[in-house]
Amino acid sequence: MINLSGAKVLITGGSRGIGRATAILFAKAGCNVAISYLRRNDAADQVKQTIEELGRKCLAFQVDVTCKNSINNMVKKIIKDWGEIHVLVNNAGIWTYGEIGKMSERVWSETMKINLDSVFYFCNVIVPYMKKARKGVIINVSSTAGIRGEAFHSHYAASKGAIIAFTKSLAIELAPYNIRVNCIAPGWVDTDMCTEVFKDKEYRKKIEESIPLKRIPPPEDIAGPIIFLSSPLACHITGEVLNVNGGSILFV
Ligand code: NAP
Repeated sequence: MINLSGAKVLITGGSRGIGRATAILFAKAGCNVAISYLRRNDAADQVKQTIEELGRKCLAFQVDVTCKNSINNMVKKIIKDWGEIHVLVNNAGIWTYGEIGKMSERVWSETMKINLDSVFYFCNVIVPYMKKARKGVIINVSSTAGIRGEAFHSHYAASKGAIIAFTKSLAIELAPYNIRVNCIAPGWVDTDMCTEVFKDKEYRKKIEESIPLKRIPPPEDIAGPIIFLSSPLACHITGEVLNVNGGSILFV
């Protein structure tokens, strides 16, 4: 039913977790996929191999999403090879601890740079190509934290809340160019980002109990909604925040 055959997709943070699952699902839907990652060559190579085994093309770039020049060079290379980028998924991110009153500026700005500035850099360089093509889809990965806040992670929540405001603004600005811009807001997801937290089995159980659907999803459960929002099935959806959290947001 969802067939994105021939579409060219760029996913940041595509080596692991939600980005990895999304990259592979896009390939299954017929897309060629470019991924960026920071350090994990091994993980990125595996994703590339999986996508190529599915008969699709994959470009993998080791690019720090805080480095505007590297991003611009990467995008130029993709455009040179593939001619266009139909779908941009801004997914790369970090989640660190920060207690207000004790949080250093370094911790605050590291999160803002990786989670928020990067989204601006990627949109700023790719949107002109999408405008020229008069089509495009941008999906920004926010979080439940960006909607309801998160104690001891206020810097993370602030970065994810800002992504929502940025998304809604671009949705209006870019609608005349047939470019749709939406957010996905996951709750807890079973990825490396949460490994430390989930090591405590009792705490994990507590989290599961707090979610109406009583489960912590694998990253594939976030990838599906991202593919949906990127597909023609979602052609009338823009400026939206799609909560993918098993109903957690209803439970505050
Ligand atoms: P993850 O498993 O920790 O993977 C993070 C990905 O981002 C990796 O591919 C990593 O590359 C890349 N990355 C991190 N910093 C980077 C940088 N400076 N430059 C380039 N790439 C960088 O994370 P995840 O759980 O899949 O999270 C993906 C997104 O979902 C994030 O935006 C996160 O905030 C959001 N989210 C996650 C959850 C959750 O519970 N997991 C919940 C809500 C929202 P390397 O592999 O090279 O390190």
